[in-house]
Amino acid sequence: MGLIPEEFISDLLHRADIVEIIREYVPLKKQGQNYVGLCPFHSEKTPSFVVSPHKQIYHCFGCGKGGNAFSFMMEKNGGNFVDAVHAVAKRYGVNVPQTEKSPEKAKQDKLRDRYFKINELAARFYRNALHGSSGQDALAYIKKRDLNTETQENFMLGYAPAGWNNLSKFLLDKGVSQHDLILLGLSIISQRGTLVDRFRNRLMFPIADDRGRIIGFGGRVLDDSQPKYLNSPETPLFYKGKHLYGLNLAKASIRKWDQLIIMEGYMDVIMAHQHGITNCIGSLGTALTANQARLMMRYTYNTSICFDSDAAGQKAALRGLDILEQCGCRLSVITIPQGKDPDEYIRKQGKDAFEELIVKAKPFLEYKLLRLMEKYNPDTVEGKIQVIEKLLPDMQKITSPLARQAFVQVIAEKLVFPETAIYAELRKFSGVNRNNKQDREVKRKCTSIHALEKAQRALLKLVLEYPEVISKVEAWGGKELFNHTLLKEIYQNNYLMRQAGHNIKANDLVTLLDNPDSQQLLTEILIEEDSPGDVKRIFNDCLINLRLDYINNKIIEKSSLMSKYEESGDVTKSLEIMSQIQQLVKEKQSLATTLRKGGILNEN
Ligand SMILES: [Zn+2]
Repeated sequence: MGLIPEEFISDLLHRADIVEIIREYVPLKKQGQNYVGLCPFHSEKTPSFVVSPHKQIYHCFGCGKGGNAFSFMMEKNGGNFVDAVHAVAKRYGVNVPQTEKSPEKAKQDKLRDRYFKINELAARFYRNALHGSSGQDALAYIKKRDLNTETQENFMLGYAPAGWNNLSKFLLDKGVSQHDLILLGLSIISQRGTLVDRFRNRLMFPIADDRGRIIGFGGRVLDDSQPKYLNSPETPLFYKGKHLYGLNLAKASIRKWDQLIIMEGYMDVIMAHQHGITNCIGSLGTALTANQARLMMRYTYNTSICFDSDAAGQKAALRGLDILEQCGCRLSVITIPQGKDPDEYIRKQGKDAFEELIVKAKPFLEYKLLRLMEKYNPDTVEGKIQVIEKLLPDMQKITSPLARQAFVQVIAEKLVFPETAIYAELRKFSGVNRNNKQDREVKRKCTSIHALEKAQRALLKLVLEYPEVISKVEAWGGKELFNHTLLKEIYQNNYLMRQAGHNIKANDLVTLLDNPDSQQLLTEILIEEDSPGDVKRIFNDCLINLRLDYINNKIIEKSSLMSKYEESGDVTKSLEIMSQIQQLVKEKQSLATTLRKGGILNEN
């Protein structure tokens, strides 16, 4: 399939009316400039779903979902962007034109299609073998593990026969080249120089991408030989740490329940699905990667981890959680009692019992606290202090004062230790970990972080609504004024499009943002009521405050650079940087004067 020309997409977006489109799914009532209704994406009794005919976007203040006409169609019908464009085009009775792909892209796509077809053939071969005469033991094993026929089909389970080259011969006969067999990791060259199957006498788990195309395989032994599990090597379709097992089957449920559960093994995931817990996926290896975290976050922010309850599983869980936490997921840990793995627990105790465990999942930090309490004796003062000391870095990292307070309360309760003493330790820890000047700056930043974010949002809203102010913002630092990653991304996308001469509207910008979080943040900002007051004054206030913050950060950065040059004895460099700092201090003073003269709008 070719590409849809961009002008067509943009024209269609301007031709379509989001109120008309959404009305076909959701009853809407006029309220002021906007329309409101019950959100189709989460269940609610009072409407928090707002559609703006003026900006041609929607936003739900309950679940945060938001976007333009295309986002709505994608969210509602579960298809991709191209499907959404086709659906909207059909609604307005227009044909979707297509441009030709570049020859190189066409060649690449053709190659990938060929690889997918070969994997498909291999999976079919394995499946037939499972139901053939050689697959009796494998089938018996599957039955012993209580996997029903429907599950076997859904997960495309198969069997790699015991001989040396059954699959290789089969695929060579089908016209697949030896080169492709090796490239896709299906065959290897033996020490004697012959072509042999990589997977022999193993139960086979095809691994699909999020669109259900087979990218690789996992194979499990039926006896005690080693390795117990063997996966495809890196191939043009399969990269280590980039995929998640079962995502193709789980993604609809993940979206629906706005939560996913990540497990370790193929069998865990399969058993969960068989019992109707269909938002489970497998990590394909023990340690989660940032790539996998990002893939998960395309579907939800709420992640529960459910690894084996043995020591190795717990350690892997902690490591995976650190990565997920860094990526901004909301995390919890599901603990399985009695040292069982998820597969066995679900098989023996059933769906209801496992759902109880989901409800009892512990937030990440609380889980860490409990693990530490097992390691150190919390009945002794010494043990309590050891646990607290281990948690200090985590406590320090929590930027929201409320969240930090809540966590300190939990620690105090569980350890039976005074909150004030924990705060004292935390202060001591923060003191040791920073020099005083920086500490003061960090404190200043923490207390005003909320006000700064508010200023960034307000400034971005003005930039989007009054494009003529962009040049002034650029002169004052442009994207550098935004330290909030998503706000920065939105600002920069808008700026670059304007720079390229496109007169884009709010709903175009939604299409341009790849990241669903920035899309949602954008619609939230746009649909919010305008701040009351003089627009010009709000604009100047935001700009000055953000510029001041930018300068403060620059001064800290340059100061530490200067001390480095001083230590190494590079006088010229350190003088050069000193004069830069003086320049910044001067600018800061003059900005402060402007602020005093003009007054500041109250930030509350
Ligand atoms: Zn909602």
